[in-house]
Amino acid sequence: MINPKQKAAVGDASSGSPTCEIITIGTELLIGQIMDTNTAYLAQELGREGITVRFRTAVGDHLEEIIEVVRSALKRCDMVITTGGLGPTLDDLTREAVARAAGVELEFRQDLMGEIEKIFRRYGYQMPQNNRKQAFVPAGSQAISNPVGTAPVFIMEVNGKPIVCLPGVPRELKFLLKTEIIPWLGQRFNLRDHRLSYRVIKTVGVGESKVDQLIGDLIQPGKNPEVGLLASQGEIKIRIAVRAGSDQKAKTLIDPIDKKIRSRLGNRFFGYDKDTLEGVVDCLLVKKHLLLSVFETFTGGLAAERLHRLASSRIAESIVIADEAHMVQWLGCCMAKGNETALAISRKLRKSEFSGVGLAILGFPKERKGSFSVKGFAAVAGEGFEKIFPWEMGGDLNVLRQRGAVIGLNTLRLSLLDSSNT
Ligand code: ATP
Repeated sequence: MINPKQKAAVGDASSGSPTCEIITIGTELLIGQIMDTNTAYLAQELGREGITVRFRTAVGDHLEEIIEVVRSALKRCDMVITTGGLGPTLDDLTREAVARAAGVELEFRQDLMGEIEKIFRRYGYQMPQNNRKQAFVPAGSQAISNPVGTAPVFIMEVNGKPIVCLPGVPRELKFLLKTEIIPWLGQRFNLRDHRLSYRVIKTVGVGESKVDQLIGDLIQPGKNPEVGLLASQGEIKIRIAVRAGSDQKAKTLIDPIDKKIRSRLGNRFFGYDKDTLEGVVDCLLVKKHLLLSVFETFTGGLAAERLHRLASSRIAESIVIADEAHMVQWLGCCMAKGNETALAISRKLRKSEFSGVGLAILGFPKERKGSFSVKGFAAVAGEGFEKIFPWEMGGDLNVLRQRGAVIGLNTLRLSLLDSSNT
């Protein structure tokens, strides 16, 4: 375990948490040869610990450019984390660039050399001479041995701001972050009171602008708790983030705002965090001892597939019929494309030997100059309850199919809820 040297007095003005810039180093990142997964991982882990990531920068294997980005990161943040460029080859320049940015020389560390030689001995290899390079670190830095790779990592303090240099290999990075760096940062920046917790409130059947209208006054960046919106495929997520020293304190801060948001959302709210729409629908079916039959056209079985994916699903039967002629044949009569057809299909499903409730999701896409518009109908029929939901939307066909499945599942959720209230 490494020792923190001093406490930081700086931080994010709004939350008091320290700020960080992540610098990923490697030309392969700039030419799109590899995906930068390190930044996303670091940003999540650091955020959870209470460090605010303010900037992310990618830079190629060019000494002067790495020096420049490290210097500018030091100007605008309380700490810097770099990944990559710690290997033994000529284009691994992080050690030298950080030394130059800090205004110090590289120093050879016999203890690090010994560790690197040990790794090669363990695997029965002769150590190539260029690995000697990895035993150099900026003078005055704290070196941390790397039990999962050959590159020792180090922390260099410049004017009270740490530069933490980690390997590029994601497996090594994750291991060292968890075992060494996060505990070190916790003490160095006294992070206990800054730990970030989240609660995600999930909504469906409502657009982003409507959610903004309902709860916009609660979205105040920099507040603790802080409310934010995230839209994806027919669902809007409302994230309540809080910085607090304990889970209990976090809960006490989140609960009142959660209650306020839910009261404004009404039945548009369907769950929290890892809850899924299909999971919630399935729970309602279990509660009512109902089995479900689903009929889909243009959604191609997407709604049924989401239910089938659950470990124990209440879906008894799923039918996919893509073209109109077969739909008419299945129904046994010809009807106009609309609410009545959808309802007739859901009623027929309900009467089948398998199920207590039928869900029909119909949609009729039209293409115009590469863009699609769909007239859709979702209908539900159960004992003592029925519901129809017509809709119309345009855009990419695959997105529309996903949206159609969400609308169908949500129509079912709402009718099961309504039937509980009657
Ligand atoms: P090593 O000592 O193993 O050479 P290093 O610290 O020098 O590690 P790099 O040589 O820059 O790291 O990268 C090693 C490998 O790690 C790359 O080939 C790539 O597969 C992966 N890698 C590097 N940077 C990233 C990144 N930002 N996101 C995901 N993977 C990365």
